[in-house]
Amino acid sequence: MTLARQRSQDFLLFLFLQGLVVVIATDSAAGPYRVVIVGGGLAGISSACVLAARGHQVTLLEKNPWVGGKAAALEADGFRFDMGPTILTLPSVLRRVFAEAGKRVEDYLELLPLDPQWRCFFEGSQGGSPTTLDLVADVPTMKRHLDAFTDSPQAGEGYERFIAMSKNLHEVSDRFFFWKSVGGLTDTFDFGSSFSAAVLKDVLSLQMGRSVSSVVRRHMPDERAAQMMDHFTQYVGSAPDQSPAVLCSIAHMQTEEGIWYPVGGTRAVPLALERLAGELGVDIRTGTDVQAIETDGHAVRAVVTTDQETVPCDAVISNCDAVRTYRELLGGQAGGRFDKKNDYEPACSGVVFYWGLKRRYEQLLHHNFVFSRDAEEEFEAIYRRGEPARDPTAYLCAPAISEPAVAPEGGEALYVLVHTPYLRPHHDWKTMLPRYREVILEKLERTAGLEGLSDEIAFESALTPESIHHRYRVLKGAIYGLASHGKYLGAFKPGNRRSDVPGLYLAGGAAHPGPGMPMVLMSGWIAADALDQDARSGRLARRLPIAADR
Ligand SMILES: Cc1cc2nc3c(=O)[nH]c(=O)nc-3n(C[C@H](O)[C@H](O)[C@H](O)COP(=O)(O)OP(=O)(O)OC[C@H]3O[C@@H](n4cnc5c(N)ncnc54)[C@H](O)[C@@H]3O)c2cc1C
Repeated sequence: MTLARQRSQDFLLFLFLQGLVVVIATDSAAGPYRVVIVGGGLAGISSACVLAARGHQVTLLEKNPWVGGKAAALEADGFRFDMGPTILTLPSVLRRVFAEAGKRVEDYLELLPLDPQWRCFFEGSQGGSPTTLDLVADVPTMKRHLDAFTDSPQAGEGYERFIAMSKNLHEVSDRFFFWKSVGGLTDTFDFGSSFSAAVLKDVLSLQMGRSVSSVVRRHMPDERAAQMMDHFTQYVGSAPDQSPAVLCSIAHMQTEEGIWYPVGGTRAVPLALERLAGELGVDIRTGTDVQAIETDGHAVRAVVTTDQETVPCDAVISNCDAVRTYRELLGGQAGGRFDKKNDYEPACSGVVFYWGLKRRYEQLLHHNFVFSRDAEEEFEAIYRRGEPARDPTAYLCAPAISEPAVAPEGGEALYVLVHTPYLRPHHDWKTMLPRYREVILEKLERTAGLEGLSDEIAFESALTPESIHHRYRVLKGAIYGLASHGKYLGAFKPGNRRSDVPGLYLAGGAAHPGPGMPMVLMSGWIAADALDQDARSGRLARRLPIAADR
């Protein structure tokens, strides 16, 4: 790099992050680009922070009155609930977003480690009593737990081998799948001249053609422990027997970096990002619904709100569901082409109960899974027949153990999530919910021993697939974007950089690398990074005169 070129840079950041040096430069000749972000979920706000930190002029439009999308909160009668995500993994992703602005997460958020990570409740077999198993981060300790739980040394040894394999898959994902815009296999591996024996080994290690459940059962002889290990695919709302083996990597991601509780609840995460975005000068407009992304027949040039305001821009990052972005916001030929080329399936939906309890149940940890009697029957119902499971698995968050202020003294802000199929035309959750509520209450009393639960409820609210659908404007009520189904290519989602519509980028659970808090934060980072790279290299045409310095 010449001295003159060095002088022309007005913005140079050296980020030292876990031994990784990232050098980012915004060229003064280029100047900031004007970017509109449609949707202020975790992905949208992550994109906004990254772009603003790199010197671009960012406007974020969110239809709801809050920023954070599904990471919303509900406060009533002295109870405080997180409404959506509660399990925070891979905090390194959040750190990287803050590091873009030279900031430390710790100065915005207090994160507490949770270990044991989950408590698992299993139905007793043949009328026997229910059993519990705690998932802990330390692998040797988990091995001992499993040996004792199954009364067999094979379980612990199988778990150790599984985690070693999961670690390898995680490393392959880090090398080829994460932190870059990927839309398919050819974006991942270079099958051309540089394709080496090492890369071939990585491709083979992905065990393409095998499902998560088959790989889990190759390692784990005990069906209850296998059900627990299968359950990582529920983080992406997909069936373990239809999901590609590479998703076994989630287990290692969780054991390596742990599970964290942000004091103030998960909601503290978008609030911290919103604060950062404000400090970086992002123009956040809540209560602003985007009706269309306008193009000149080819490239993006503006967005139009439902109030008929036109906001001109050089580029758009859509944090709206990928399929709905194409169908509803773009429409026309681009929308038609996308629909013709792709056949994406929504991930599962769910019902969530927010129960303010007069008491706490001491047998609950912060995170708990109360498992179905028959995992195969459960997944068959949700993912194949498209009906709620008769005997479902329930996820319970009981946060008073970590932060008693979530409830009046001695009480609990109990959150119960049961996965359901994505919305089908004949599903009417107004009539289905009261019946399903009884199924869930009975399940929790029987398998987790929550005796007298219904009598302890002092406050109640709920979300259904229908309300999720409208509240967050997702695809058929899906809570985790698009399903990861397909034993070969199920992990691939629509790529972040859209070559078919120059100036359009996608971020969120229905875009690469997929759903869940860390992945959507990464998705937001990737979309912003792709846009910034395109701007700096001249690949992204400027539509507006250079914006004035801020
Ligand atoms: C009940 C539930 C439990 C979950 N549990 C966990 C968990 O424990 N751990 C975990 O990691 N993940 C969990 N998830 C998944 C996680 O919440 C999501 O993957 C993630 O929050 C999605 O972020 P996003 O930015 O992609 O989308 P969203 O949060 O859906 O944000 C998109 C935003 O775009 C806005 N929008 C859409 N269209 C428009 C438009 N046209 N104009 C303006 N605004 C628009 C929407 O209003 C919304 O605010 C859970 C989700 C739910 C619902």
